[in-house]
Amino acid sequence: MLNKLSESIYYLSNQNDKDRPTLGLVCGDQYSLVIDGGNSVQHAQEFLQEISRIDAPPIKYVVITHAHWDHFLGMNEFNATIIVNRLTQQMMNIWRNFSFDDHSLHEYVESNKMSSHCMEIIKNEIPMRNSYQLNDSDISFEGSLELDLGNKVCRIETIRSTHTDDSTIVYIPDEKTIFLGDSPYGTTTNSLFHYKQAMLLPMIEDIQKYDADHFLLGHESICDLDEMDVFWRELTSCNRAVTSTSLDSAITNFEKEHERTPNENEMFFLQAFVNDQRLQLQHK
Ligand SMILES: [Zn+2]
Repeated sequence: MLNKLSESIYYLSNQNDKDRPTLGLVCGDQYSLVIDGGNSVQHAQEFLQEISRIDAPPIKYVVITHAHWDHFLGMNEFNATIIVNRLTQQMMNIWRNFSFDDHSLHEYVESNKMSSHCMEIIKNEIPMRNSYQLNDSDISFEGSLELDLGNKVCRIETIRSTHTDDSTIVYIPDEKTIFLGDSPYGTTTNSLFHYKQAMLLPMIEDIQKYDADHFLLGHESICDLDEMDVFWRELTSCNRAVTSTSLDSAITNFEKEHERTPNENEMFFLQAFVNDQRLQLQHK
């Protein structure tokens, strides 16, 4: 079911069991813009089906928030102008050279170019995958781009992020709404989930520049300003507490500052920052 945020903004909630991220729709007087292309042909088709039930203007643009497969494998279905930043464009080129037959898929999984979960989704949700090929993007921008959908301006900008180096957000100023993609999340390196300490404060600075009340996240759907503030507060206080590769001393630091034990989220963040310290050590 399509969720309606306002007269011009809709979204399809993320579905974690199927690795489906949140998909967004912004409607102007003349055109619509879609945020993220879906994780498969089927995902995109289901979104299009939902859109056909409302009176939306034609979809002219699809913005891909970053080059993770679950955000773009369905994008061909929209027959629209695909917009990505320069780095996303480069990273997606790898996928343009992929073949999607059984043999190739298994090869990519074995050489760690693709997760086995991704392979399963492709097998189940991309019909005719033997002839499937990811289209080229149409516009690749650097920095930022402004589009007017007809009395509805969208700002498309790259931001610094703890998730990837190619994060794009879509901000709709007169709706005080921002689509963040996965940018506020951590990332996995060498099978270790971690939060890049070096990127956390720059990212928060970049995101807090936008005057927004509604925040849409790739795998959480929607947060209001208070929820985002809690999220930032938990992240920054955990970040402060982690000064070494020891989780124990991070917990001690945390308890000293807050005079309480960390909650479940905070434990998760502390571990992720500790993992980052470990990875930093390995790279020295
Ligand atoms: Zn991602």
